[in-house]
Amino acid sequence: MSRIQLLPENVASQVAAGEVIERPASVVKELVENSIDAGSKKIEVMIRRGGISSIRVVDDGCGMDRDDALLCLERHATSKIRTGHDLAAISTLGFRGEALPSIASVSRFSMATREHGAIAGTEIMVNGGKIEYVRDGGEAPGTQIEARSLFYNLPARRKFLRTENTESSHVEHQMHLQAIGHPKIGFVLVNDDRLIYQLPAVTNLIDRVRDLSGPALAAELLEVRGINTGGITITGLIGKPGVSRSSRAQQIVFINGRAVENSTVNYALREGYHTALMKGQYPVTFIFIEMDPAAVDVNVHPAKREVRFRDPAILREALVESVRRTIETGREEWTAAFSKGPVEIGRREAAITQTTPPLIPETAQVTLRRDWSALPLQPPSGLTQPASPAQSSIPLPVEQSEPAPDTKKPRNDHFKVLGVLGKLYVLMENESGLVLVDQHAAHERILFEELRRRMEGQGVPGQRLLMPLTIQVAPRDGDWLAQNLDTLHKMGIGIEPFGAGTFKIDALPQFMQTGEPMQLVREIIDELRQTSVSTSKMRLGEDVIASTACRHAVKANDYLREPELVKLIQDLMACELPYCCPHGRPTMIQISYLELEKKFGRKA
Ligand code: ADP
Ligand code: MG
Repeated sequence: MSRIQLLPENVASQVAAGEVIERPASVVKELVENSIDAGSKKIEVMIRRGGISSIRVVDDGCGMDRDDALLCLERHATSKIRTGHDLAAISTLGFRGEALPSIASVSRFSMATREHGAIAGTEIMVNGGKIEYVRDGGEAPGTQIEARSLFYNLPARRKFLRTENTESSHVEHQMHLQAIGHPKIGFVLVNDDRLIYQLPAVTNLIDRVRDLSGPALAAELLEVRGINTGGITITGLIGKPGVSRSSRAQQIVFINGRAVENSTVNYALREGYHTALMKGQYPVTFIFIEMDPAAVDVNVHPAKREVRFRDPAILREALVESVRRTIETGREEWTAAFSKGPVEIGRREAAITQTTPPLIPETAQVTLRRDWSALPLQPPSGLTQPASPAQSSIPLPVEQSEPAPDTKKPRNDHFKVLGVLGKLYVLMENESGLVLVDQHAAHERILFEELRRRMEGQGVPGQRLLMPLTIQVAPRDGDWLAQNLDTLHKMGIGIEPFGAGTFKIDALPQFMQTGEPMQLVREIIDELRQTSVSTSKMRLGEDVIASTACRHAVKANDYLREPELVKLIQDLMACELPYCCPHGRPTMIQISYLELEKKFGRKA
């Protein structure tokens, strides 16, 4: 007898189910996606005991007639593609015709469906892949599917389920994705008879975010400055600079309506934020990418979570650009408000003519007139303005205008410096309340931009070494170095080839004072090499600059005198990205009167 046999259909389905249906959240995903593909306006999901005991999805979509209702339970039965050709350009969420048979093979499955306008609907009951009955029914138009006792016939699978709470949170996350991805559809989620939410259909993404996650998150978002290049359109909302999370849970990206995880996308988002994102933190994004379905392959992952791009570089470029532009919007609003202050124009000019100051400001050669008290500044909403460090003994009245958080209209507030807390945080008062500025972070940002400006322009001035040094490198490093001498020169490092595998160094950047120049150069080369893998030449070296800026910036505990404080704030205000340090940490924080009133119980 032959050793090889074809598996019976129900076993084959269970094998397939192993790929598609991992846990209750996967059932929810497949059923909800089917409802979306069916053109539903409203989708209700009810789960019990984390979905393990029951998952019920009710929609008002197109429904199915009796034949289709039976056919959809067969493997590879789909209404969404017809030929192999169609696989090359998929515009629906489903296409494999595998989900329903998979779910039905690992649960007690029932379906009731009715087309709009049909006289009767169809009810089908399936147990572990075997049809128990098919009959006419009188349900409302649309489709209701229930999957009970998930994996009851696959104990091995069932053992891998986590606690009900964990499974519930996976379901909630999945629903979150779908709800964000489809604001025009109303969603209801009920968990163990508890209404988790009831989201009305809305026309704008921001309304959906607000309904789902509350006004606080909505206020931290910027509308993506949509970009439209190479057949790619990018829209959505992203967190303002300084807004980040410690996990990717809020980094949500849809490609043609499908939530995806993809390293090209992740990388591009990080690159777009660049210094506005803290190391180890993830951005908050609700990004929608629309592109030619033929340019993206969604048929690479059983649960269709991952995608591949025909041309990742174009997408990456488009994403980086839209994030960058969007972040700059915040800055534009900020600047617009800033330059509105009546006293401000003279003040800003003063600040500008003083740019290109010594990189590491020697204390006290700041010559500012005493009218700095009218310095108008504006922090972006949710963020604060920088102040400078000093001791509490220096009360300075500095004023700034501040843009109202959450409003597009800038207000002309004035800041007043109240003093310095813990030798680090400058306390300021503005119209909305209290502003705290981290003097160190503020100074880092100023130095960073200054160094970068010089690097992009003439280059950072180098300081000749009395005795040139020679450095020996491995052949691979040697090739790389030879090709990147320009970048190093711009950084103020005088370096030339000096025979096989050897380089001569005769100058080092002024701002890098070190007793170990060789060590320093090696470190820089290593760091540059790492960043160069996929970054543009301009970006090369920015990390090095950032860490250098950090080492030289005014530290906590450094005492700054009043004029220095004022100068620090002015310089910060003149920065491109004033609200965060080059590592993405905020430079300033606003605590509004409203928050204070709540804390003091004056307001509920
Ligand atoms: P796929 O979504 O890949 O086509 P499924 O097994 O998920 O495969 O569904 C099979 C078919 O059943 C779908 O192509 C669709 O025609 C039909 N179907 C499934 N769910 C629904 C629904 N909620 N409303 C209407 N039709 C549905
Ligand atoms: Mg499907």
